[in-house]
Order: sequence, then C-alpha cells, then structure tokens
Amino acid sequence: MIEITAGDIVECVDDSASRPESRIMPELGRLYTVASIRPAGDGHSVRLKELKPSCHLGGVCVCGQCGWDATRFRKILRPRSTFLLELLKISTLEVV
Ligand SMILES: [Zn+2]
Repeated sequence: MIEITAGDIVECVDDSASRPESRIMPELGRLYTVASIRPAGDGHSVRLKELKPSCHLGGVCVCGQCGWDATRFRKILRPRSTFLLELLKISTLEVV
C-alpha cells in the first residue's frame, strides 16, 4: 500500500538506475518534496518539486508524464507550512 501523497517530504532510499534511460536520479538519503503521484504499471510514479526526471522522449522531462517509482522513496512526514518554510530556507542556503 502506498501512503505517499503530494506535499509529503520523502527520503530517497534507492537511487540505483533500473533503466538505461533513467539518467537523472534522486540522491540516496536526500529529502525531496512530492509534487504528484499517480498509478503507473504495477506501481506508482512520483514526481518531485526539486528534481525533474529523465524523459522517455529523451532529455529532461517536459511531457509531465515521467517520474520515479514510489518504492524509491520513504515518507518522512507531512509538514506544517512553517516547517516547509524552514526547509526552504535551509535548501536556499545549501544552494548558495
Ligand atoms: Zn517525460
């Protein structure tokens, strides 16, 4: 059963590339925000706010249909908005 929903903070627990076209992968141990999740094949496909996946059409996804398997992620928590703001501040500092 999948318990990840949009807006959740998740940790990447599997960054092994399962397919040769999956060039862009989330980083093991890093936290991401779920932008959306939908059923795909026999699992669920997750899109992240921080990272765009490789596209089945090639390059970085612009079709909006591509994503990573939900089993690559572990739900951390569903944050309150104040926590999200703190997290955004932290990630901004990391970028700088
Ligand atoms: Zn795509």
